[in-house]
Amino acid sequence: EMGRRLLSQENLTVVEGEATTLLAEDRRVVGARVGGEEYLARASIVTAGTFLAGLMHVGSLRRAGGREGDPAAIGLSDSLRSLGLELRRFKTGTPARLDVQTIDYERTEPQPGDPEPRPFSFSTPREGFPRLPQLACAITRTNGQTHEIIRQNLGRSPLYGGIIEGLGARYCPSIEDKVVRFAHRERHPVFLERDGLDTPVVYPAGVSTSLPSEVQLSFLRTIPGLERVEMLLPGYAIEYDYAPPTQVDRRLAVKGVEGLWLAGQVNGTSGYEEAAVQGFWAGVNAALWVQGRAPFALTRAEAMIAVLVDDLVTKGTEEPYRIFSSRAEHRLLLREDNADSRLVGHGVEIGLVGSEAAARVGAKRRAIQGELGRLEQAVVNPTAEVREGFAARGWTPPRMPASLAALLRRPEVSWESLSFLDAGRQALDRDAVEQIETEVRYGGYIERQEDWVARAKGLDELCIPPGFEYRAVRGFSREVLERLERVRPATIGQASRLPGMTPAAVGLLAVQVRRRGCG
Ligand SMILES: Cc1cc2nc3c(=O)[nH]c(=O)nc-3n(C[C@H](O)[C@H](O)[C@H](O)COP(=O)(O)OP(=O)(O)OC[C@H]3O[C@@H](n4cnc5c(N)ncnc54)[C@H](O)[C@@H]3O)c2cc1C
Repeated sequence: EMGRRLLSQENLTVVEGEATTLLAEDRRVVGARVGGEEYLARASIVTAGTFLAGLMHVGSLRRAGGREGDPAAIGLSDSLRSLGLELRRFKTGTPARLDVQTIDYERTEPQPGDPEPRPFSFSTPREGFPRLPQLACAITRTNGQTHEIIRQNLGRSPLYGGIIEGLGARYCPSIEDKVVRFAHRERHPVFLERDGLDTPVVYPAGVSTSLPSEVQLSFLRTIPGLERVEMLLPGYAIEYDYAPPTQVDRRLAVKGVEGLWLAGQVNGTSGYEEAAVQGFWAGVNAALWVQGRAPFALTRAEAMIAVLVDDLVTKGTEEPYRIFSSRAEHRLLLREDNADSRLVGHGVEIGLVGSEAAARVGAKRRAIQGELGRLEQAVVNPTAEVREGFAARGWTPPRMPASLAALLRRPEVSWESLSFLDAGRQALDRDAVEQIETEVRYGGYIERQEDWVARAKGLDELCIPPGFEYRAVRGFSREVLERLERVRPATIGQASRLPGMTPAAVGLLAVQVRRRGCG
């Protein structure tokens, strides 16, 4: 479906072929050689994923490749190096793919999806969603026998035989890693996930491995429900080149090279969402740059994308980076229920959100604000009838007059369930109701976070002139000085998040920057 959409997208030409070389004049990228042809471009974005010098491992078997069935990208790494970029190695892995016909689901526990799945986009109508029938996943578990087979064969795992040099993600360990690092655990969960409605492929999440195929099959067959399982593909580990992301700026453009952007796994991330948002961010910025317009940037208080980009370009990453809500200090503000109202203004500004969609979001926000105000003001008196209504629902009846908002703060009460006290209210859609409930229940915390953001804003966004001479400032430690010179943060906020940066160093830098002004 996505392929079809891309091919029919107006103003987009798709060319299939391997990009082997970036065409460069001095420190300016002017295009790429793809399948032997030269394509000239003012802005080029490299999104090569796990393909740059990709090397796949299954036991002692090694072969060049970017993903099962796809060749590696060989020439592009040299091109990036010749532009002065440093490349390092990361690794990731995947489990075997299983044949659904050979799984005994009677011996596993069903894991149904959400009873009411929600669409990714606010513009997808809830009515008639989901459009396709849903398949449940199932859960099963490894056991002592599984672990014993893995332990006995550790020497045949490229991870443990010292063959793999790249660093993997700690939070996403292979089954070999789990058995060694969590040796006290008697079992590990395995989620059996169907790949689609009309494919026999099952993805057993939790048992990614690079052990030889025959070892994979024998440990899988010790797991309840998988006694007769057949593998459609063995699991494997893959090592690939990535560019440590402190080499790109906040637009994801390569520092010191004109016309070149990097996005996705090449920047040291892992994950679909992480890659997709960087593609968006780099694409928007490259287009704005070509049009001579100001860069597109969001702050850490506005969007998770900004947290990801800021973390990458400021701190770099020592392992494949994944976004977690715990990485966002303003996570109470960065909720999925308010993403439309948080970001619609930016969408309009860069020309990606049309006036109709913006009006829809505006109307929804106004309805929510109106309802929040009304709930705070509408007072319920504890009459006998009201108290009876509460008792009938198993709720503690109120003794004092209380606003509808105060009642909604009770964990057992929902907006819907207050209707018996609130006959004349207007109908609201489900998304709006959810947002109202969140804002009422967590209002105190949300306000505190908004206050904090407002207070920190001035300093956070104070920009540092691009050629700022850190060495001219006396008082930085050598470590801080080196890091500031290497990363060249764009704002005081970004500088403050550099590892090793102390509050005193931030204060010193802010004073000097204020004195000199933003160049
Ligand atoms: C085996 C495996 C399992 C994974 N499982 C999950 C998962 O369950 N959940 C999750 O969130 N993430 C998962 N990931 C991670 C996720 O797939 C990646 O992080 C994400 O797809 C990276 O997106 P990307 O656009 O940067 O690169 P990719 O999706 O790797 O796409 C890169 C594209 O660029 C093309 N390409 C590369 N070099 C060239 C060149 N020189 N010329 C032309 N084209 C080129 C490739 O053909 C490919 O189409 C997995 C990754 C792997 C390898």
